Amino acid sequence: MRIIDVNERLLPLSRYADRSSVTGGLTTSIVAVTTDILRDGRPVVGYGYASVGRFGQSGLIRERFAPRLLSAAQDLLITEAGDNIDPFRAWTVMMTGEKPGGHGERCVAVGALDMAIWDAAAKIAGLPLFRFLAQRLNRAVDNRPKVRVYASGGYLHPQNDLGNLADEIRSFVDSGFEDVKIKIGATDLKRDLQRVETAVSQLPDSKHLSVDAMNVYGLEQGLAAASALAPFGLRWFEDVCDPLDFPVQARIAEAYASPLAAGEALFSLAEAKLLDRHAGLRRVKDILVFDPVHCYGLPGYIDIVDHLTSLGWTRNSFWPHGGHLFCLHVVAALGLAGAELTPLAFYPFNGLFNGAVIDEGWTNPPDIPGIGFELNDGAWREFQTLT
Ligand code: MG
Repeated sequence: MRIIDVNERLLPLSRYADRSSVTGGLTTSIVAVTTDILRDGRPVVGYGYASVGRFGQSGLIRERFAPRLLSAAQDLLITEAGDNIDPFRAWTVMMTGEKPGGHGERCVAVGALDMAIWDAAAKIAGLPLFRFLAQRLNRAVDNRPKVRVYASGGYLHPQNDLGNLADEIRSFVDSGFEDVKIKIGATDLKRDLQRVETAVSQLPDSKHLSVDAMNVYGLEQGLAAASALAPFGLRWFEDVCDPLDFPVQARIAEAYASPLAAGEALFSLAEAKLLDRHAGLRRVKDILVFDPVHCYGLPGYIDIVDHLTSLGWTRNSFWPHGGHLFCLHVVAALGLAGAELTPLAFYPFNGLFNGAVIDEGWTNPPDIPGIGFELNDGAWREFQTLT
């Protein structure tokens, strides 16, 4: 049982439903990991990608991490029983020779391959990923687990921003979402408050809206935004300042009573520990949006969840970033609060899968072996070009 091929390709991503709109050159890496295990006469292939927001990782994947998987001795990659690829052992193979610290974006490259390896292993086991992962972690999971989801989008539109924003939020509500997140910080505060009011006008009330400043505020701007947003009593205020500027984050937490969200741009357990210790976050109400792919994949993410829950955070604090099918399985298997979805942004990873239903803010992961990318026409078309 071996990994016999790893393929990677860069894919451009747009933050808008109209893919011709400016993307800032954003890309992701899509990967295919081919095994020598046959199902229905064809090799089992796992698919993954580098989530969204951090660009593709071609060099690291091709030059460093894929060669380690391809040259590893078989017994380093497989389970004790020898009946499957072991994603945790494959992860150890990928990390061979890597030194602590200097997380950079190697964690994103590892996470993309890790996703594909979990997909392959779940397919070899003949299980949807949520069930395979729950079994592997000795966690109970419903037969058809429900996952709480929210719709994420609301990027500043180059033209007719408020009109487009209102249409976007209405489309989320019409397709079954109850909670929505929009971006702020790309324009001045006065205009952002109009954007917040516009979004709220399409929702039952402001408690269904979160805002995400994409880490752009300094102390003064962050405090001004916090003070202006406070009367809305928003669901949460995310990525306020530089992800590593814990003193600023802590000052905002002192000044802002409603929930804050952080962690999306921190990619390691070491950084998660620093966030918990120094950023003034309140374990009883704040939200953690670490991205399982960006945090070195599932082995890294599970370490973060385990460590922070041991300190008093609850699983209900975790709303993984990423907006993709993979996180539906992760949330279901790990018993986390819910998942971010991006219904319009980041085609082909915007939708879920054919026949997916969002019902009053809840959905189900697909019930076929693996992650289920085969059920998403756009994603599947791209993945098929790899093999
Ligand atoms: Mg964010």
